[in-house]
Amino acid sequence: MGLLMLLHVLLVAAAARAPAAQAWGKEGHYMTCKIADGFLTSEALTGVKALLPSWANGELAEVCSWADSQRFRYRWSSPLHFADTPGDCKFSYARDCHGTKGEKDMCVVGGINNYTAALQDSSSPYNRTESLLFLSHFLGDIHQPMHCGRTADLGGNTIVVTWYNTTKTNLHKVWDEKVIETAMNRFYKDDRSAMIQAIKLNLTNEWSKEENQWAACYTRTTTCADKYAEESAELSCPAYVGAEQGCNLEDEYFFSALPVVQKRLAQGGVRLAAILNRIFGGNGRLQSI
Ligand SMILES: [Zn+2]
Repeated sequence: MGLLMLLHVLLVAAAARAPAAQAWGKEGHYMTCKIADGFLTSEALTGVKALLPSWANGELAEVCSWADSQRFRYRWSSPLHFADTPGDCKFSYARDCHGTKGEKDMCVVGGINNYTAALQDSSSPYNRTESLLFLSHFLGDIHQPMHCGRTADLGGNTIVVTWYNTTKTNLHKVWDEKVIETAMNRFYKDDRSAMIQAIKLNLTNEWSKEENQWAACYTRTTTCADKYAEESAELSCPAYVGAEQGCNLEDEYFFSALPVVQKRLAQGGVRLAAILNRIFGGNGRLQSI
């Protein structure tokens, strides 16, 4: 192997392992938004495309990690990515939706409510493109169970674990990235769109009876984000079981987490679409399988 080729391989490998910020990793956010895309009304699709920045190339999914890349620029936005709890498997808006200094409404539920309201109000002072990008990202975050994990361990960030005896990581990242990466590698030849298709197929098969209820509590004045955080808080408790500080996680953990991850990606997508359809209007919805 020539030196240039070796360098190329090393660079590609390094890029593949580049740490993503604290959220579903890039793949998870892309998948949530790509699933949402298929459920948008034509009016919502037009409204969304009109707000997308040029670098999105007309694809909502391309911008869904933007909010993570802005956490250092917009430091105030950092608490809007999660809603940790004392670890009782429950989320309570009054108790848990605050920033690190107790600032009210500064959690992922507050973020979703705020940017939904901003997009619904044409006289809102918020930048509409940024509102769309934040909203689309936070709908992903709120469905990752560790984003409603325990405050004491920063949603699993301080629980160091090894993944398949090879990669040192932490429990939060296992849920953000590792389960998705391993599934893509093992079942989908590292093809993201193949995994998205498989999740979409589940929507018409396994989850078809419940799927139309996922966004059901949505009304004009509330986004039901409380409910999504409650679900994640509840799912976070079993996610801590068998994942003690310093342990190695492999097949047993992977196979119990994967169905949860796939369903949460699907729910995030379906619910994001429902919110955007409500904002931009239109009857019925498209579903591209
Ligand atoms: Zn995030």
